Amino acid sequence: MNYEAVIGLEVHAQLLTNSKIFCGCSVAFGGEPNTRVCPICLGMPGVLPVLNRRAVEYTIRMALAVDGQVAETSAFARKNYFYPDLPKGYQISQYDRAGEPISLYGGVEIEGEDGPRFVRLRRIHLEEEAGKSIHNEPGYDPDLSYIDYNRTGVPLMEIVSEPDIRSPREASAYLARLRQILQYIGVCDGNMEEGSLRCDANISIRKPGDPLGELVEIKNMNSMRSMERALEFEIERQAEVLDDGGRVVRQTRLWNEEARETFPMRSKEEAHDYRYFPDPDLVTVEIARTWVDDIGEDLPELPDVRMQRFVDEYGLPPDMARQLTENRTRADYFEACVGHVTGEGSGDTASQASGDARAVSNWMLSELLRVQHESRMDQATLQERIPPTHLAQLLAQIKDGKISGKIGKDVLDTMAETGQAPAEVIEEQGLVQISDTGELEGVVDGILAEHPDDVAEYRAGKTKLLGFFMGQVMRATQGKANPKLVNELLREKLAGS
Ligand code: ADP
Ligand code: ZN
Ligand code: MG
Repeated sequence: MNYEAVIGLEVHAQLLTNSKIFCGCSVAFGGEPNTRVCPICLGMPGVLPVLNRRAVEYTIRMALAVDGQVAETSAFARKNYFYPDLPKGYQISQYDRAGEPISLYGGVEIEGEDGPRFVRLRRIHLEEEAGKSIHNEPGYDPDLSYIDYNRTGVPLMEIVSEPDIRSPREASAYLARLRQILQYIGVCDGNMEEGSLRCDANISIRKPGDPLGELVEIKNMNSMRSMERALEFEIERQAEVLDDGGRVVRQTRLWNEEARETFPMRSKEEAHDYRYFPDPDLVTVEIARTWVDDIGEDLPELPDVRMQRFVDEYGLPPDMARQLTENRTRADYFEACVGHVTGEGSGDTASQASGDARAVSNWMLSELLRVQHESRMDQATLQERIPPTHLAQLLAQIKDGKISGKIGKDVLDTMAETGQAPAEVIEEQGLVQISDTGELEGVVDGILAEHPDDVAEYRAGKTKLLGFFMGQVMRATQGKANPKLVNELLREKLAGS
């Protein structure tokens, strides 16, 4: 039986504030356990939390970036449950009803299974992070449980979607889209390995056209790959249940990466009754329209707008523009590079400028990505090693015929290793292209003299031997011969008697 998957995600993004959401403790990752804590985040009696304004501002920023409706008033509630990593016995969060979360509605467009798909958002709210229990980790006594409260009270923004996603791949695309926007607007680093971006996935299946099925929630996935795998597993599992005439039970499950399966964490019967109630220690937040307007004005150019501008302004194909704008660092690098290539004094016409932009784009998306992959450097490190000015200079050397494109690739490798400017590498390694006709003629004559049989065959009509001769000349010159000149010389000489 064929079923349709219905997926809705609850995404938690750690906000890039300096301090925690209700106290002044640092939110920096790691740190000696229990050193970034104070009476407030430890939940001591009698303390009063004070809301971090920046956390609200960042949430509004996200809301505006996804066309959400920013609330005029927003309030905090206590979500009560007992767990060792929650020292207060409750988590400060927000109700899901109107007037409470900071933002309602909005949505993002993703590349869906069959064309663009718009995923609607239900709400965006703020809450605090819990601490971390440590069981059986290297450096800790396996017979004991440990608790680290450094993360307790770190500000989290929760983004809840409608169940508009239809496949595991779309779920990844949606998560990637959110991460891209979060990074662009600078409110979350999007680092899934360090847990600054996590997600709970809700999934049900149904026969196409049927009402929504019973959902299962898979908790706390911290990579797109595990999320996709968990969802795929869950679709299969639920389909088997239904095919056997059974019913899917609403429950919370966890993903086991080693076993590649989900397993039940708690069922509805055991589900928590959180006894939400308004937090009496925190006042209702009134969000001034003028503040929202100011935040809107400061919003940077968003990825899809920037992508379209790359198409219009630089004449790039949409696919390339999309790849270049995938993250802000890469897009900024591209523009800086183009700025240097076509900068003042280059005397470029508009069409030359667009050719230059295309060259920068080609080099970034093929060669820079290759070097990044081979060197295992992350994008930011590589872009520091090879600043935009250096890539621009390299492309200028190629354009001017000082080196060939092929040698340019080797030069780029060295630039990535040493951080040198291209001119320095070319000079040091003696890579300047041989464009001296006299010198090249000597080499070509030598090669032809060495291969009289091939020359005869060529003249008898086997013209594809030209490639062979080209290769020989390149070998003899360590790749430094100007290919265009060699090509001309070879044709000329081979055509002659
Ligand atoms: P809440 O947890 O706020 O009570 P729900 O459990 O209904 O609300 O929704 C939580 C998440 O589950 C949302 O992201 C929503 O899109 C998703 N969801 C709701 N119903 C379904 C369903 N039938 N199948 C898959 N996902 C669903
Ligand atoms: Zn604190
Ligand atoms: Mg839920």
